[in-house]
Amino acid sequence: MPSNSVTVRVPAKVNLQLSVGPREADGFHNLVSVFQAISIFDDVTVSRGAPGSGISISVSGEQTHGVPADTSNLAVKAAQLMIDRFDIDADLQIDVKKSIPVAGGMAGGSADAAATLVALDALFQLELSREELHRLGSELGSDVPFMISGGTAVGQGRGDQLTAALSRGTYHWVLALSSVGLSTPAVYAECDRMRAELEIAPPQVSDALMQSLLAADAQAVGRALTNDLQSAACSLRPALSLVLEVGRDYGALGAIVSGSGPTVAFLVADEEAGLDLAVALTASGVVGSVARALGPVAGAKVI
Ligand code: ATP
Repeated sequence: MPSNSVTVRVPAKVNLQLSVGPREADGFHNLVSVFQAISIFDDVTVSRGAPGSGISISVSGEQTHGVPADTSNLAVKAAQLMIDRFDIDADLQIDVKKSIPVAGGMAGGSADAAATLVALDALFQLELSREELHRLGSELGSDVPFMISGGTAVGQGRGDQLTAALSRGTYHWVLALSSVGLSTPAVYAECDRMRAELEIAPPQVSDALMQSLLAADAQAVGRALTNDLQSAACSLRPALSLVLEVGRDYGALGAIVSGSGPTVAFLVADEEAGLDLAVALTASGVVGSVARALGPVAGAKVI
């Protein structure tokens, strides 16, 4: 018998590499993005709603500030896409329990969209393939396909052509969170402004990063972390440079602004180093709050 409710757990991501090509005529940038899914999760529950209620959404949990509870929520957009594409005749209630920081460069909105696609696939027994789910996801946003698969992967093009990366080992992360997010379009615009006079080469996957992931060499991964949006994020939010410095001073193997920020991700050697760094960052007074996470973890899955 079909169930009336499905819950999907979906992780956040950090970017190990984010290389941004020149701005194209249509305003987009070609990207090379190496993603790792990490153990901070949102839970998205999709239930059959009361007849005639359409799609409703509620948002609860640790991170609700700034998350729209209307049709602009990416989870609602994902549900609408599935309803239209598969001619689903149903009313839906979506409940998002958020732990992924909002507007933090950790793809929380994309994660909820991915979770909603996977939930509707299960709720209506559509039995879509991974590829079909990816295609639907890429219509919603460039990070959505990765949030469906999780693990470690390389995104190219607009970030949506995805291939799994050969990665061994488990990585320990400490995340310095800001209470105020940064707008992704504003960070790209600042990046374009800062590069206005420069010749920008097409982005390439970093060999150093791929080899370090394959070798499970956390020190080398730490050295290979790169983000072309980092200086733009720091230019808009100068305090981020200080946060990066504090983490490096306390022995992080690598320090990087995640995606368009303002979350700063520190790679550390092990759990103990993570605890020490978390304490040091908190004591420094330069970060809003601190979280710890492990990666890679699986993508959106029914629980
Ligand atoms: P990315 O890393 O993909 O650039 P981000 O982590 O910086 O994204 P999100 O947390 O996805 O940013 O949120 C960006 C904006 O999207 C929010 O400020 C909010 O207005 C809107 N939004 C829409 N749906 C959601 C959702 N389900 N969760 C969080 N934000 C959402």
